[in-house]
Amino acid sequence: MDRRPVLVAGGGIAGLSVALTMHQIGVPCVVLESVRHLEPLGVGINLQPNAVRELYELAIGPDQLGAIGLETREFVLVGLNGKEVYAEPRGLHAGYKWPQYSVHRGGLQMLLYRTVRDRLGSGAVRTGLAVTGYIPDDDGGVRALVETPDGQRLEIEGSLLIGADGLHSAVRAQMHPGQPPIQWGGAIMWRGVTPGVPIRTGASFVGLGTHRHRVVFYPIARPDPVTGLAPINWIAEITVDNSGGWTTGDWNRRVDVASFIHHFEDWNYDWLDVPAMLRGADAVFEYPMIDRDPVPTWVDRRVALLGDAAHVMYPTGSNGASQAVIDARVLGASILQHGVTPAALQAYDERLCAEVSAVVLRNRGAGPFGLLNLLDERCGGVFDDIDAVIPAAERDAFMSRYKAAAGFAMETLNGSPPIIAGASFGRG
Ligand SMILES: Cc1cc2nc3c(=O)[nH]c(=O)nc-3n(C[C@H](O)[C@H](O)[C@H](O)COP(=O)(O)OP(=O)(O)OC[C@H]3O[C@@H](n4cnc5c(N)ncnc54)[C@H](O)[C@@H]3O)c2cc1C
Repeated sequence: MDRRPVLVAGGGIAGLSVALTMHQIGVPCVVLESVRHLEPLGVGINLQPNAVRELYELAIGPDQLGAIGLETREFVLVGLNGKEVYAEPRGLHAGYKWPQYSVHRGGLQMLLYRTVRDRLGSGAVRTGLAVTGYIPDDDGGVRALVETPDGQRLEIEGSLLIGADGLHSAVRAQMHPGQPPIQWGGAIMWRGVTPGVPIRTGASFVGLGTHRHRVVFYPIARPDPVTGLAPINWIAEITVDNSGGWTTGDWNRRVDVASFIHHFEDWNYDWLDVPAMLRGADAVFEYPMIDRDPVPTWVDRRVALLGDAAHVMYPTGSNGASQAVIDARVLGASILQHGVTPAALQAYDERLCAEVSAVVLRNRGAGPFGLLNLLDERCGGVFDDIDAVIPAAERDAFMSRYKAAAGFAMETLNGSPPIIAGASFGRG
């Protein structure tokens, strides 16, 4: 077997999941990460049952995930008038064999990072190395072009290169030099975490408002037993005219709450004071809802794209991080079947590229929040009896279609084997 390592550009959730998967199937692997020190950045994200199952197969079990997040019990959409439009149980409570988790993104990244270092060794993640491109080798390998923070240029040889370098992927830019710029549909998101008393089930994911003007919030940890307060992750969002464009995306751009609170100032309900929730965060981050037009392939000979580098998507479906985990597992299964070869990358591409690209485009249409679009069209978001506006069967059918497209339809998932069998914590 080729003892040159699989090189992974990027130590995010995607790249670290690849490293753990390669270790599980006995393939050497090194992660090249551009930042000097990985830090627990970001706010809340969701792990859908399909991804949780694969983490369990990697022996990252309920104890570890429970320490960085909370099992999600419910998904709820609420109209601007504060009335429920749709509610469904999630994870184990819906009958999945695996839970859904709402977690802190940075907490998950650090958990994966520690696990990679424990299992693969402390040299498996090399920080301060930005991958700037690649050169296919004549002898059946690939060289990653790398730059250090002080401008030194290196070439690192590997058997394959996996570009898991996120939204601004240098690997993707070389693979698809003519790709269009970042696509922005006009939505701006402000994100933060505020201590609060969890509502409803205590672990509910709530979307409140209209498709162009909404707040999404959910707890990402259990309440403190003394204060009863839990960290509530929130995203406040409006849609504006996008003709001016938006050229970049920086997840860490901090803004003052005063710059946007006026959009939500009168959002007071007897069960929630939205302005107080938005004002209560220590730090608020502004981020445009952006993605990239899908590309026809994620593979160029011994190089493949994975995670956001392959398919950055609007977070409306809460499945960007989940899909990154699934990508890593499908890549591992393809390597198990075809060896550390370009044929494995082709198989991975054929299995996922077209299907996930369709999810990227579908999420532009609001993903599961599309129900709020429908509500808006039919009654301007104001209703007394939701059944008279969108009958229950229609609401259920809409959500089932989304879950099937995003790969976490319950019967399909429960009835299928894991992508790669490993350690098992689930009931499946
Ligand atoms: C700092 C940060 C904060 C985020 N916060 C949120 C959030 O709050 N909510 C949310 O929904 N999503 C957030 N995301 C995005 C979310 O993590 C991803 O959509 C999802 O987890 C898929 O992850 P990924 O590993 O493909 O990409 P990313 O999470 O973007 O990870 C890419 C990794 O590659 C590294 N990298 C980038 N360029 C290079 C290069 N040229 N060479 C080597 N390494 C490189 C980056 O430093 C990063 O560690 C955040 C991403 C980042 C980087």
